[in-house]
Amino acid sequence: MAFYDVKQQYDALDFKEYVANVSDDMVINSIQKEKIDKVDFLNLLSPKAMNHIEKIAQKSHEISLKHFGKSILLYAPLYVSNFCINNCAYCGFSTTNKIKREVLSFEEIKENSKVVAGYGIRHILIVSGENRTKTSLYYFKRCVEILKNYFEVVDIEIYPLDEYEYKEMGNIGVSGLTIFQETYNEKIYKVLHTKGAKSNYKYRLETCERAGICNYRSLNVGSLLGLNDFVSELFFVGLHAKYLQQKFPAIEVGVSFPRFRPALGAYHPKSVISDINLIQAICAMRLFINRVNITVSTRESKELRSNLIPLGVTKMSAASSTEVGGYIKKRDFEGQFKVNDTATVEEVKEMIYQKGYQPIMKDWIKL
Ligand code: SF4
Repeated sequence: MAFYDVKQQYDALDFKEYVANVSDDMVINSIQKEKIDKVDFLNLLSPKAMNHIEKIAQKSHEISLKHFGKSILLYAPLYVSNFCINNCAYCGFSTTNKIKREVLSFEEIKENSKVVAGYGIRHILIVSGENRTKTSLYYFKRCVEILKNYFEVVDIEIYPLDEYEYKEMGNIGVSGLTIFQETYNEKIYKVLHTKGAKSNYKYRLETCERAGICNYRSLNVGSLLGLNDFVSELFFVGLHAKYLQQKFPAIEVGVSFPRFRPALGAYHPKSVISDINLIQAICAMRLFINRVNITVSTRESKELRSNLIPLGVTKMSAASSTEVGGYIKKRDFEGQFKVNDTATVEEVKEMIYQKGYQPIMKDWIKL
């Protein structure tokens, strides 16, 4: 069964009503279980769970230590193009925004790679707006070939591909895929994505399944927190990650928790996710899926990232630029969103050491 069909089984659920009726006893009972199920997960995402957040955080810490030890993998994104045919209302790269558009030349990719590799980064994520004319599959293949000279791991966060295309990208060395559904609510999704290939909700939702069949090493999912209500989004992110883990047991599945950040355009998020809600989300996810990777990017502040380290985070971006080629040229702001933590790689490493954890620059070598 495809995840789309799994998800539909829960579409009629009234999440607001359910969590409003969760009691302290229900939360305590869920925390105490060895393995929590979907209902427990919802209990931990409820407002009542806030009364028990320290216990939830403590359990999340213990489970994370057991499965991941005290290591945090560092990576950096490389934005290669901001051409995009889509009009996501919340994104600085939306086709409706009047910004300078550019695609990095292969020479510029080399130059940016030298800078990022010079920071000590060994794990790079290619990020791009979605435009098959300006950035063809051939273009991305060349990018990967160049990046492999500088980095051990090359992952992609680009437009969704067909299965045969994932196979081709995997064959030349791509090991991981990040793709955010943005919102799992199909109705809201259709309002926010009215143009371009991204308007196809189902095709995007099934992207990880197409890559999973091609034996990618890692799959990373998430939704942009703020576009819809917190509980239902987190529930579906967790359900999706668990589905992928069960369907592809050899693949590392990860979850990101991107919160809405200011970007070009006048979009105002439907809901604001507080720091404590983010902590609740991360810890509840850890209890629901013990072995899932948890990524926190530079969207979050240095202080918060530091505090999140013992709670279950396994992967962090560092020294990120969300501008195209932003490692060799800096402008005021034409990135996809505003970076919050502007610390250097060395400063991020120091922050991790201060917490008693170890920064890891590479955790895998392709033979
Ligand atoms: S979120 Fe992605 S697809 Fe949407 S406008 Fe931004 S770059 Fe394009």
